[in-house]
Amino acid sequence: MSENVQLQLSPSRISDFQQCPQLYKYRAIDKLPERPGLDALRGSLVHLVLEKLFHLNSNDRTFDKACELLTPAWEELIEEDINLLCALDHDMVFPITKRTDVEQDLVTKLFNESKDLLANYFGIEDPTKIEPDSLEELIEFDLSEKTKLKGFVDRIDKSPQGWLRVNDYKTGKSPKENFSAKAMFQLKFYAVVIYKKSGVLPKLLRLIYLKDSQILTYEPNEQDIIQTLAKVSNIEESINNAKVTNTWPTKVSKLCDYCYFKKICPEFS
Ligand code: SF4
Repeated sequence: MSENVQLQLSPSRISDFQQCPQLYKYRAIDKLPERPGLDALRGSLVHLVLEKLFHLNSNDRTFDKACELLTPAWEELIEEDINLLCALDHDMVFPITKRTDVEQDLVTKLFNESKDLLANYFGIEDPTKIEPDSLEELIEFDLSEKTKLKGFVDRIDKSPQGWLRVNDYKTGKSPKENFSAKAMFQLKFYAVVIYKKSGVLPKLLRLIYLKDSQILTYEPNEQDIIQTLAKVSNIEESINNAKVTNTWPTKVSKLCDYCYFKKICPEFS
């Protein structure tokens, strides 16, 4: 790979590298195809439904309407990537090479699980009372000529005073207390990009956990920006060193059991 290609750093790629440099290489450098998982598919579906919901007039943002949006959102996802069907049907061969379908029961089960998550969402927020400033916005900032920070923010709200509230939906459970700072890193990363681009420091960061209806909040300050930037710069340097030396150590952990590349990983193959 050319060393001149700009490094694209997002919270997920940073998390990959921290979990295991070899995993980062498989995903970001080799760009190996990866069979989608059911949790990720359910997450994408619920995210898309919530995005579509906020495009409706505020009075129409009801739970019933959200459930109606499951079908068009599902069709849109499958149209974009037919391989998502592999997440529903474990017997389906990945990658899919021709038009295919899954049993309706599997889709119905996915929809029912998604409806539960959407019901939880309506239990913790009233979308008729929120006017988002942006939805699924791509935010980017060139940290240097060599590195771009980027990410998609689920929803940004702006108060009449101009205060920004950055929201990220999670379809899993909220983390235990000692892991909440780690979970908040993603939103601090977004706060850095927003601050560097616009000069505005977001007032509030929120992780909205739909599985157990919890909201984790954090009020960032300028010190957080400095510390997060320092952390990102350290990771950037480590990735660049790994690229120059082509050294991607494996890091075995219990997360290996969820790693799609375990079957080709030198630690296990
Ligand atoms: S199986 Fe474990 S050690 Fe191997 S690439 Fe995946 S995360 Fe890294």
